[in-house]
Amino acid sequence: MRLGVLGWPVAHSRSPAMHNAALIAVGLHGWRYQLLPVPPELLDETVPSLRRAGFRGANVTIPHKPAALALATDRTERAAAIGAANTLTFEPGGEIVADNTDAPALIAALPFDARGRTAVVLGAGGSARAVVWALAGAGARDVLIWNRTPTRARALADELGATALQAGEPLPGADIVVNCTSVGLDGGDPFGTLPLTADRLANYGCVVDLVYTPTGTRLIDAAARRGVATVDGLEILVGQGALSFERFTGKPAPVAVMRAAARG
Ligand code: NAP
Repeated sequence: MRLGVLGWPVAHSRSPAMHNAALIAVGLHGWRYQLLPVPPELLDETVPSLRRAGFRGANVTIPHKPAALALATDRTERAAAIGAANTLTFEPGGEIVADNTDAPALIAALPFDARGRTAVVLGAGGSARAVVWALAGAGARDVLIWNRTPTRARALADELGATALQAGEPLPGADIVVNCTSVGLDGGDPFGTLPLTADRLANYGCVVDLVYTPTGTRLIDAAARRGVATVDGLEILVGQGALSFERFTGKPAPVAVMRAAARG
């Protein structure tokens, strides 16, 4: 049985290390999880061919999440509502089932219940869709969206019942702030690029960064140095990966093994 992660670029992904460690830990020795670097123009023909090549499932990352949803024959309710898929399962009858496990992974990783909390979401791409939907569904009181391109923030807010920040409007404090942009992926300073300063991080109850790098991100470092609760991108990766693993294999995910391998 084969598994993999579709993305472009995808070389940085920790998913193969994490899933291969999990497969060994649960005794699925004939299974392998691999990188699937596929450019956008080849996704349509690649996805249907994966099942014929012996794949049971695939995770999906940038920039393929919305397209993966469209290519599926069946969609979970949450993937359809979010409008993006990060998990494709190839069923024996030929169905391709799309799910989105980023949303429940975020809610599970938060250090407190999101119900009644305020949240600021930075970004309006595929992962921001999942985060806004998850926070609203978990009962967050106010979900504000900031995006570099404000029209995208407005479109997402209208679609999912959140509020878009106007261009130039200062970022308010909140219980939760989630970085769903790709800022920080190159290890660079997020504070010149995002409308945040390190000193204002104390205005948030919890800082979540979906971005991960081998040495951590400056956003998470700065928040932790100020004593603010943090959830880093590797923790979200482990959470979404564990739920995908259970869909692919039907076995409980060995979460501690996956966390150790992802952080390895
Ligand atoms: P995406 O759909 O391509 O969206 C990218 C977002 O980043 C857009 O809102 C874009 O704004 C913004 N952006 C890009 N460059 C920017 C800059 N220089 N300044 C300000 N904003 C900028 O990507 P995605 O799928 O949402 O993923 C976003 C990040 O989250 C990626 O780094 C991905 O690896 C990470 N992620 C991690 C996990 C995990 O498991 N840890 C899960 C999902 C995603 P515009 O609309 O203005 O272009």
